[in-house]
Amino acid sequence: MSGLSKRDFDAVVVGSGPNGLAAAIRLQQAGLSVLILEGKDTVGGGTRSAELTLPGFIHDVCSAIHPLAVCSPFFKTLPLGQHGLEFIYPPLSAAHPFDDGTAAALCTSPEDTALTLGEDQRAYLRLIKPLVNEWHHIAEDVLSPLHLPRKYFPFARFGFKALTSANFLSKKFRTTKGRGFLGGMAAHAIQPLSNLATSAVALVLLITGHTSGWPIPKGGSQQIANALASYFLSIGGKIQTNFYVRSMDQIPSAHAVLFDITPRQLLEIGGVKLSALYQRQLRKYRYGMGVFKVDWALDSPVPFVAEACRRAGTVHLGNTYGEIAAYEETIWQGKHAAKPFVLFAQQSLFDPSRAPSGKHTAWAYCHVPSGSTVDMTGEIEDQVERFAPGFRKGILSKHTFNTKQIEAYNPNYIGGDINGGANDIGQIFTRPALRLSPYRTSSKGIYICSSATPPGGGVHGMCGLHAADRALKDIFGLRIENKL
Ligand SMILES: Cc1cc2nc3c(=O)[nH]c(=O)nc-3n(C[C@H](O)[C@H](O)[C@H](O)COP(=O)(O)OP(=O)(O)OC[C@H]3O[C@@H](n4cnc5c(N)ncnc54)[C@H](O)[C@@H]3O)c2cc1C
Repeated sequence: MSGLSKRDFDAVVVGSGPNGLAAAIRLQQAGLSVLILEGKDTVGGGTRSAELTLPGFIHDVCSAIHPLAVCSPFFKTLPLGQHGLEFIYPPLSAAHPFDDGTAAALCTSPEDTALTLGEDQRAYLRLIKPLVNEWHHIAEDVLSPLHLPRKYFPFARFGFKALTSANFLSKKFRTTKGRGFLGGMAAHAIQPLSNLATSAVALVLLITGHTSGWPIPKGGSQQIANALASYFLSIGGKIQTNFYVRSMDQIPSAHAVLFDITPRQLLEIGGVKLSALYQRQLRKYRYGMGVFKVDWALDSPVPFVAEACRRAGTVHLGNTYGEIAAYEETIWQGKHAAKPFVLFAQQSLFDPSRAPSGKHTAWAYCHVPSGSTVDMTGEIEDQVERFAPGFRKGILSKHTFNTKQIEAYNPNYIGGDINGGANDIGQIFTRPALRLSPYRTSSKGIYICSSATPPGGGVHGMCGLHAADRALKDIFGLRIENKL
């Protein structure tokens, strides 16, 4: 660092989503002076909460369920509990109801989960137990850019299954329950279930259900961002909110600037000197399907028929594998359909601080074509009502977001894509561009640290961590002893 000239800050991070915060923390921990610039009036990006409906009802504006935050090798090293973060674990991580009134459930133990899958009990245990047993060896490698894994054989065993399509993996199950349950997990990939590597998403979600759980933060997802920001400030970092960056000229001088934004926005920010080749690569970057989201203030808990659904933080509403796969395929083709696969969460059942006494909140979204402005509230509520008759009677108020509104809320959600870019096989390893390091841009000292880089979407901070480590090595000649 001794050869570097004086700047206002050693590093500036633009954007305070979980990846921006993680990057800033890593840089500040290395002894640099770091400033975060955030366009909105609060920190958090996709981890914010707000009273979207009625006073006293706290809704998660974006992320709600946090298996990736609790299994994040980086977040685990941070004293976030001392900075106010407390996770609440619902009795069941997830449930998946069927039209016959029964449900499959993701329980802490693989055995209890398998019991909910009837004749697919053995098939589930054969698939998941070896991966669960080896997860601690491979979690960090899975949440990293492409590299030689530390434990080759466990990683290869995971990769062999993960790189297949969910359609292929689902053949391991014979029953409607086993296949539907898998389909609900795989549909988090936000792409057709026939795509290669959609199994990866299903497997990571199932494994984390058994290894670390699917918790919700007490008080709302905002608490994750608040704890990260509080820790960052406590070690000397600086944060400026209400500072939307449109041009490099606005940014105080720094040796490194890390952008918690996606390629399209980087191309638009004036004064970034990117090579013609890199600009071409960024322009080719593909964004995925969008989401339509609804938040409800409720008079009472959701009256799910299946008992397991009343004990689960997350409920997957899509019935059979065939229905879910057909819906995701239709959306991918740019069309809408009447029976969406709905990702549903009921935080207030387990965290009374989310709603006034006796009242409740619920959160849901379904996938829609990129840029869609179609109002899917009716279709989403029909799906809830299908498995919880009488649900509509309990609605006190609701708030909706179509893809345009969600992009206006957070410019990272291009066309409503919540993953910072399609996470298909063509982009998993090379997002945002094929380069030796995906975090480096073609301009010295400028990096991307958002979910548009590996390992992609979700609240885990690992994109930020890896981008910060790249900058530390390239610009400051520092290599952080990996204590993950
Ligand atoms: C509806 C929805 C549901 C989700 N559910 C979950 C879930 O349950 N669990 C989960 O793990 N993940 C979930 N996610 C995904 C998760 O929120 C994102 O993957 C994650 O937030 C990405 O983090 P990030 O730091 O890369 O970017 P973001 O969180 O998007 O943060 C980017 C930040 O940069 C700021 N910014 C952008 N441009 C500028 C600029 N020019 N100048 C200054 N500031 C700028 C933005 O205001 C924002 O604060 C969900 C997302 C959505 C939208």
